[in-house]
Amino acid sequence: MLADRRAKIVATIGPATRDEKNLEKAIKAGMNVARLNFSHGSHEDHLKVIHSLRKLSSELRAPVAILQDLQGPKVRVGKFENGSIQITPGEKVVFTTAAVLGKPGLIPSDFKELPLACVPGTKILLDDGLLEVKVLQVRGEEVDAEVIYGGTLKDRKGMNLPGANLPVDAMTAKDLEDLEFGLANKVDYVALSFVRHARDIRKVREIIEARKSSAKVIAKIEMVEALENLEEICRVSDAVMVARGDLAVEVGQSRLPGFQKRIIQVCNQLGKPVITATQMLESMVENPRPTRAEITDVANAILDGTDAVMLSAESASGKYPFKCIRTMHEIITEVERNEEEYYKLSLETEFLSTPSAIAASASLSALKLNATAIICLTTSGKTANIISGFRPKARVISVTQHMDVLNSMELMWGIQTHIIKPYKTMEDILSQVDQLMVTNGLAKTGDRVILTLGQPIAQGVKTNSIYVHTVNGEGYSKLPDEQLPLRCQTDPNVG
Ligand code: PGA
Ligand code: MN
Repeated sequence: MLADRRAKIVATIGPATRDEKNLEKAIKAGMNVARLNFSHGSHEDHLKVIHSLRKLSSELRAPVAILQDLQGPKVRVGKFENGSIQITPGEKVVFTTAAVLGKPGLIPSDFKELPLACVPGTKILLDDGLLEVKVLQVRGEEVDAEVIYGGTLKDRKGMNLPGANLPVDAMTAKDLEDLEFGLANKVDYVALSFVRHARDIRKVREIIEARKSSAKVIAKIEMVEALENLEEICRVSDAVMVARGDLAVEVGQSRLPGFQKRIIQVCNQLGKPVITATQMLESMVENPRPTRAEITDVANAILDGTDAVMLSAESASGKYPFKCIRTMHEIITEVERNEEEYYKLSLETEFLSTPSAIAASASLSALKLNATAIICLTTSGKTANIISGFRPKARVISVTQHMDVLNSMELMWGIQTHIIKPYKTMEDILSQVDQLMVTNGLAKTGDRVILTLGQPIAQGVKTNSIYVHTVNGEGYSKLPDEQLPLRCQTDPNVG
């Protein structure tokens, strides 16, 4: 069943996936988190996707997190008279911040501060570093440059000035508008691009809190300055993304693998879910099968300890979006057969808060008692997040009646999300747990499960207890596939 996979899949939604029928296929293929990329698409398009996802998610009984990815101060070239130009090595080109259409030799950009950020010798990388120019001189609002690596430069492609200290805010006017839209439409996560300092994250959080939203914040690590402030940024964020597209260009491509490992390690230590992103199955944009290097890349990210892996163009605009999701699912499932990846539980860690003490005890008890599952009765997802960090081999089932909490937990490693009816007594909880586990085929009578919950039993009491329960499923039996939540079905057909 899809629920057996522990690491999660984030898929970017775009023209190849945004129709309701295709969104259904994406969920059935194994998508846990839908990423809406606000560098592209209108609010109207994104709103349709949000509505379809919420509807499908409830029909299929498969919680899905919606991640709004804000464009941030991404520097881009403008548009060209014919949609693109050719640039050739040795050629002199002019960048202008004037509002004009580009043509051969003339590259417009709406990044007004470009001349300020350039000095003779500055490297400007175009289209994720596929093309490169070197600045010769700055003249008013224009910059002269010489082409080092040429090729086709299309409309609106990204520009990177590695290492340059850009005089820009982390949030542009467009980001603020997009954020208001996202919060009004209840996205689960907001990802901030080109984060440099912890204060960039704090600023977004202030807005989110002012709107009384429970949206969580993801820091995209894609700047040298973010690496310098990595720990502090991770501490103030709810989750983190290794944004390899821009990061590789900013730090130099050969340093990317080392930084990927370091970011994941810091996140694991701090208990923050981390997403490894960009070009994981890039060749599948065109081809039905990945390269050996890509298969190994996905597998290695899982072995590095990532909570989730992400698809960008592969699922947004590629030829084989669902096949990509399934391919990721299969690679991850295979890697996870290796026993050594579980129970990263060190008693050196200080379990200072009640939830972390309970989470550690639950994981340790599950290991020692060979429990089938840890069941988290959670109201905020906090305990589930900490348990996920210990990477238990036992299933981790998170139950609550709050759909938004279930959705947000879909990003976290190893968390299976199920809705539960309101409860008032321990007997009620245990009978709901027995029914849930047995009818969904997650445990059988006699299996031991570990519960974490808040006592006295009443909704809203924070986790403070652990309870070892032996499943008693008499009177229940496993339901046929078509009556099960999607992710408990044997092998949902993508269609
Ligand atoms: P982007 O972020 O796709 O929004 O640029 C991810 C990355 O840079 O890798
Ligand atoms: Mn980026």
